Amino acid sequence: MNPMCDRCGSRAATAKALAMRGGQAVYESLCDRCRTSGDRARAVFAGAAALAALAAGVGAVAYASRRAAAPAKTALARSPDVRHRSQSDSYTA
Ligand SMILES: [Zn+2]
Repeated sequence: MNPMCDRCGSRAATAKALAMRGGQAVYESLCDRCRTSGDRARAVFAGAAALAALAAGVGAVAYASRRAAAPAKTALARSPDVRHRSQSDSYTA
C-alpha cells in the first residue's frame, strides 16, 4: 500500500522526489499531480537561473568589450611627444 502524498495529503503517493524543507534536502512522497507541479516549478526555476547566468554573461562580455575599446581612444589622444625621457637615457655607465 502506498503512503499518502506528503504535500497534499489527499492522494496516494506514487513517487519520491527530492525537496527542500527547512533548509535540508529531504525525500518526500508525492502523488502524480504534486510531482508534476513540483517538476514544473523546478524547471521554471532552473530556466530563470540559466537566463540570469546568460544575461550576466552577455553583460560581462559587453562590459569587457567596452573596456577594451576605451584605452584605444585614450592612447590616440595621448601624444608620444609629451612623454618624459626615461631615466636610462641620461644614465651613463
Ligand atoms: Zn499530492
